Amino acid sequence: MQLDVRGFEAAIVGFLGLLVGSFLNVVIYRLPKMLERQWTAECAEMAATDLPADAPFNLMVPRSRCPHCSHQIRWYENIPVLSYLSLRGRCSACHAPIGLRYPLVELSIGALFFFCVWQWGANATGLAWCAFSATLLALAMIDWDTTLLPDDLTLPLLWFGLVAAALQWTAVGLNSALWGAVAGYLSLWSVYWAFKIITGKEGMGYGDFKLFAALGAWFGWQSLIPMILMASIIGAVVGIAMKFSTGLREGGYVPFGPFLAGAGLATLVAGPTAMRQFIGL
Ligand SMILES: [Zn+2]
Repeated sequence: MQLDVRGFEAAIVGFLGLLVGSFLNVVIYRLPKMLERQWTAECAEMAATDLPADAPFNLMVPRSRCPHCSHQIRWYENIPVLSYLSLRGRCSACHAPIGLRYPLVELSIGALFFFCVWQWGANATGLAWCAFSATLLALAMIDWDTTLLPDDLTLPLLWFGLVAAALQWTAVGLNSALWGAVAGYLSLWSVYWAFKIITGKEGMGYGDFKLFAALGAWFGWQSLIPMILMASIIGAVVGIAMKFSTGLREGGYVPFGPFLAGAGLATLVAGPTAMRQFIGL
């Protein structure tokens, strides 16, 4: 009986996850553009030049449009997964293909939310992990697209991890979470400066330190080594594969954030103990 209630709750939250995933698609697309606008405005202000007033652009306005023909997307064309299927992956006006990643982001968030509530229940713990997984997925996609890890996402993730540990929503103690955040930040900061002094190049950015600090806050310092090993190995394999493939990225730069976020999601699903055992710690 208990299991049936849990399954029902997980199904409901998983369904809400599809809607959250749909919203995340907007965040992933718009947040970097919003930041760019903000930076341009700040530069203009410092240079005391006047920018033409822009139409509002945020997560709510304007309504979503087809990037090819500017067809305004109607509400029934914006239903997670189902609209993609009924439109057969094409814009209803110009028939340009719609990226498969939109329904995949929706399905991934639905599945992660289902997992979190199935695992921990529809309580503070389960919902905190839902927020954690949605933020990580958004960060991974934004970093992949733009090589940015916005502070607007990494810093709240870090603070929320520490608060969740203090309130005992996560199973890590506050001590372990605090030192996880400190060691997560400082370890990548040290690697960054060592690499920069030796080679004169930048191997990653400050966003990576903040993201790794956040992962340390959510899983505790004990999980930092398994996560960094996993992210580095998979990141290196993908980086080398992309160097040899024809679809080389512009500039050839493969961001590290998606692999850190992926290691975080793997730790969430497999559990920190399994991750440590996997590398023999
Ligand atoms: Zn179109």
